Amino acid sequence: MSADAMVVGSGPNGLAAAVTLARSGLAVHVIEGAETPGGGCRTAELTLPGFRHDVCSAVHPLAAASPFFRQLDLAALGVALRTPKVAFAHPLDGGRAAWLAGSVDETAGNLGADGAAYRRLLEPLVRDATLTLPDVLAPLRSVPGHPLAMARFGLDGLPPASLLVRRFRSPETRAMFAGAAELTSLGGTLETGRWVTSLADLPAARAVLLDVTPRQLVALAGESIGARSRRTLERFRYGTGVCKVDWALSGPVPWQAAPCREAGTVHVGGTFAEVARGEADVNAGRHPDRPFCLVAQPGVVDPTRAPAGHCTLWGYCHVPAGSSVDMSGRIEAQIERFAPGFTDLILARSVRTAADMERYNPNYVGGDINGGAATLRQTFFRPTLRWNPYRTPLPGVYLCSSSTPPGGGVHGMCGLGAARTALADLGVKT
Ligand SMILES: Cc1cc2nc3c(=O)[nH]c(=O)nc-3n(C[C@H](O)[C@H](O)[C@H](O)COP(=O)(O)OP(=O)(O)OC[C@H]3O[C@@H](n4cnc5c(N)ncnc54)[C@H](O)[C@@H]3O)c2cc1C
Repeated sequence: MSADAMVVGSGPNGLAAAVTLARSGLAVHVIEGAETPGGGCRTAELTLPGFRHDVCSAVHPLAAASPFFRQLDLAALGVALRTPKVAFAHPLDGGRAAWLAGSVDETAGNLGADGAAYRRLLEPLVRDATLTLPDVLAPLRSVPGHPLAMARFGLDGLPPASLLVRRFRSPETRAMFAGAAELTSLGGTLETGRWVTSLADLPAARAVLLDVTPRQLVALAGESIGARSRRTLERFRYGTGVCKVDWALSGPVPWQAAPCREAGTVHVGGTFAEVARGEADVNAGRHPDRPFCLVAQPGVVDPTRAPAGHCTLWGYCHVPAGSSVDMSGRIEAQIERFAPGFTDLILARSVRTAADMERYNPNYVGGDINGGAATLRQTFFRPTLRWNPYRTPLPGVYLCSSSTPPGGGVHGMCGLGAARTALADLGVKT
């Protein structure tokens, strides 16, 4: 096997890199360790026949905004992005809830006395979103295409940026194959079920792109990487882990607060103080009794996920890195608190502890699902402080995973950035 470019790993970023290289005329070969492509974007029957669960990512607010995904004709690839009526809801005791609707106006209208402040903060950010998002998703060294809009985003938008872009998008199962379908149509090839353990095992290629994190780069490179570069890469920090649970339910979750029943995502954890306490516990290495849980309800936009009248439910909470504690009981108690009767609906569950997460995909080091901790330093400089974050100390070898800018999430922008760097180094015009 020979190719102009080899890509190790077929997560959203590996595939984005492969597609970008193939579009520029390179012969590309992708090697994936798991039996199916997709990395953090796979759907599987984890519980019972007919119940199709998102094994990792389920909510894709950045996919629609991503310049990489915009280049693809998603409809032609059989991918539909769907938006729920309520983007996310946050229930409180007593049947109350706050929720984010489809427009600033609608959400402001639900916020009572806070409505005006919300409108003041969000309106300009939403107005400029199509201008600023490509810059937000680019490496820090890039010159913003819309500096004024970016300045406004930096001043007002950074703290609630996740809020700004949280339009829930749930792709159909076929979405996970979109990158692979697109790749083969461009002449690229994809091999699954082959774990790469050393760069020396790869066939010769003009460029090698690795959809892995710095720790794996060090292991794959072995002696070929100098001691100083190795030490720098080893300083890369990973974040807390997650314990993830998927449920097969005999019906929709009986949330007390009506907006939660229509929400794509439900933030389950009670008041601000309770959420902060739970997350502080995790950062201190403890497993909280009342964890803050992210819960997604794919059924609100995609009833085909489960047999008629039934539902799937997806949820996780943070845990200390590497934890093998099953948090399903505590997560279920939190959901039951805001949706009495929930536990009676459970037909089956699948649990993945943080340690299981890493066994499933070595990129999830200690169960960290974002390819590295979101420290201030690593938010701006990841994986290390380099002018071009995608190059590695090895000539012709690039990192293209979520350990590079802009970080975790299904947007393909790490892959796009790495592929563009490789193409520039090869002197290929794009
Ligand atoms: C539980 C969970 C929930 C999430 N929820 C969301 C969400 O709702 N929305 C969102 O946007 N993001 C979410 N994410 C994050 C998102 O899935 C990741 O940020 C994204 O998948 C990163 O893409 P990637 O291509 O960088 O790496 P990955 O998706 O991790 O892909 C890496 C691929 O490389 C393969 N690989 C690794 N090492 C080797 C090797 N040595 N040889 C061969 N193959 C190898 C792996 O098997 C894997 O297929 C979630 C992640 C998890 C785990």
